[in-house]
Amino acid sequence: MKLETKYIVTPDERVTLSHHAPSHTGIYKEKRDTKRRLKKLHKQMLELQELLYAESQHALLIILQGMDTCGKDGTIRKVMSGINVQGCDVVSFKVPSTDELSRDFLWRAHKAVPQKGHIGIFNRSHYEDVLVVRVHELVPKQVWAQRYQQINDFEKMLVENGTVVLKFFLHISKDEQKARLESRISDATKHWKIEESDIRERAYWDDYMQAYETVLQKCSTDWAPWYIIPANKKWYRNLAITECLVETLKKLDMKYPEPTIDITKLRIDD
Ligand code: AMP
Ligand code: MG
Repeated sequence: MKLETKYIVTPDERVTLSHHAPSHTGIYKEKRDTKRRLKKLHKQMLELQELLYAESQHALLIILQGMDTCGKDGTIRKVMSGINVQGCDVVSFKVPSTDELSRDFLWRAHKAVPQKGHIGIFNRSHYEDVLVVRVHELVPKQVWAQRYQQINDFEKMLVENGTVVLKFFLHISKDEQKARLESRISDATKHWKIEESDIRERAYWDDYMQAYETVLQKCSTDWAPWYIIPANKKWYRNLAITECLVETLKKLDMKYPEPTIDITKLRIDD
């Protein structure tokens, strides 16, 4: 089965994250078993990106969400390696500035969407406004509760205007997060990554799982699907995401543009 269909959340599906195994690796036992398939998929992805860039009829927006240490940065580094950087924009969503907070919550997301021909990657996204904001009650419930519909409408508008939207929840277990946080403490080359908030937020694990379940249930739509990606094993996460990207880009049935001039009349002087 294509991994693309295996991990998609169907619209209105009831999602219980504890029923989705973060360590799942499909038919593979170890990393080296996936090498050939990943290499082939990666090559296809680079070719499809070139086509996306040349044709410039669509944009692709990739949204990455998950708990701290779930591998958003690693996914961007690995899955996108070798990509034509001229056609790729990565945007990280941090705690909103006062300027951003004085606008509607979608303002900063809308400003950051990719132009046609580009792949845009959101490292966190407007979904934080129904995740961290909900868990910590940063706005009243009646405000965040309206946002699921607002997000669906916003994403629909993007899709109707030529942007393909794919959303990946990188699903790690609480134990795996502990191991990754510990390695951020023990490995000096990872100290720069650790923040007190990572430890603080871990205490709200169950609240986050609940908030994610609502997101996955309410905001996986026909036009902008969510995928629950088993992410305890980085190599499997990379394989699954690359395959989703390739399958989605293939469906666009893109073509290199016809020349705008009569090629037969062109002569290159010596
Ligand atoms: P990091 O991804 O590790 O750089 O951390 C970014 C931090 O910004 C995370 O703790 C997010 O929860 C936080 N953040 C992102 N968007 C929002 C938002 N809309 N409201 C509050 N905090 C946010
Ligand atoms: Mg962090």
